Amino acid sequence: MTEANTQPEVNIGLVGHVDHGKTTLVQALSGSWTDQHSEEMKRGISIRLGYADATFRRCPGVDEPECYTVDEECEDGSASEPVRTVSFVDAPGHETLMATMLSGASIMDGAVLVVSATEDVPQAQTEEHLMALDLIGIENIVIAQNKVDLVDRDRAVDNYEQIREFVEGTVAEDAPIVPVSAQQEVNMDLLIDAVESEIPTPDRDPDESARMYAARSFDINRPGASAEDLKGGVVGGSLVRGELSVGDGLEIRPGREVDEEGQTEWRPLETTVRSLQAGSNDVETARPGGLLGVGTGLDPSLTKGDALAGQVAGEPGTLPPTREEFEMTVDLLDRVVGKEDDESGESDIEEISTGEPLMLTVGTATTVGAVTSARDGECEVSLKRPVCAEAGAQIAINRRVGARWRLIGVGTLT
Ligand code: GDP
Ligand code: MG
Repeated sequence: MTEANTQPEVNIGLVGHVDHGKTTLVQALSGSWTDQHSEEMKRGISIRLGYADATFRRCPGVDEPECYTVDEECEDGSASEPVRTVSFVDAPGHETLMATMLSGASIMDGAVLVVSATEDVPQAQTEEHLMALDLIGIENIVIAQNKVDLVDRDRAVDNYEQIREFVEGTVAEDAPIVPVSAQQEVNMDLLIDAVESEIPTPDRDPDESARMYAARSFDINRPGASAEDLKGGVVGGSLVRGELSVGDGLEIRPGREVDEEGQTEWRPLETTVRSLQAGSNDVETARPGGLLGVGTGLDPSLTKGDALAGQVAGEPGTLPPTREEFEMTVDLLDRVVGKEDDESGESDIEEISTGEPLMLTVGTATTVGAVTSARDGECEVSLKRPVCAEAGAQIAINRRVGARWRLIGVGTLT
């Protein structure tokens, strides 16, 4: 396979309740997590958003769906042919990481919702994640009914009916439900077939100016590296449009907070692209799809410890404005979803009120804002940390309910 077609061309989110088998499924489809990225990238990113690339292949002369595999060798010993390389974004299932799932949603072109056949449907995060896909408008969905090796036929059929009923009236209403065992690697061909037909690579315009959502940022230097060995800061994330090449200028917003005579303000950073790592390769030019590591000329102290996570990078002069406050129209959910039975707090969602704190996810940025004014279906917020976002941007709105932040609705920046 040439380098050009190993670069992933589409991002597919793995979502669903904790322990239902997301990570196992990603491993079954992509092999190991290792050697996808440099050690630094890997270590950092798998903690929050774990990207793993998989090349779907087909065995020549075999009918669909049986032809699909991720192995290079077919059962008859012939060589399989690459079809498409995809990047899985493995969102953590743990409840407190909902914000991470939502920041992942901004870079997903489609999603696989993993539902275990061994439990009643829906479990808390199955519901919460589906609601998030629904709100953010991720329409290309495949449902993997996992762990079918652990249940008998009746239970599997029963569970299948429960899933059907649960997704009725949601964005996943028409999604195929594929029974699989991720652990035993059963029905992987059917799953790949479903992903191939339901989650196409979006049409992309290479002439659009580049825009990247940063999910992580790093200082890749070893402690004590000498000045001449020092490497510039690295930003990890996904391109959502355009192309980025080595040598291109790069602006990053909001940038950094500077303090001048007691006044603080956010100033965009400007640098150049020094290196690009896409999929498992160093490349000259990167396109949307997969995790991109951008080596920059920035002082690594600026990128250390995810300092630039949630920021937006692109061609200088083309980025949306930095906003310390904004107005949005608001669509609230009918009730709090994903609550465990023993959790306290109201289930009904009250209107947003002036003065209340909200946690907002905008692109890959998560920020807390105070509501400065609220009317029916609209509100204004003042942010603790500014975001770079344009009018029309979608915002996931979370409110503190009981002990944790809950998704209560979606906003559109006006
Ligand atoms: P995640 O939290 O959704 O990422 O779930 P994991 O992939 O970590 O899986 C949770 C547990 O379920 C692990 O012990 C897996 O080995 C197990 N598991 C995952 N898929 C299957 C499956 O298809 N069959 C069986 N029997 N166990 C599975
Ligand atoms: Mg996992």
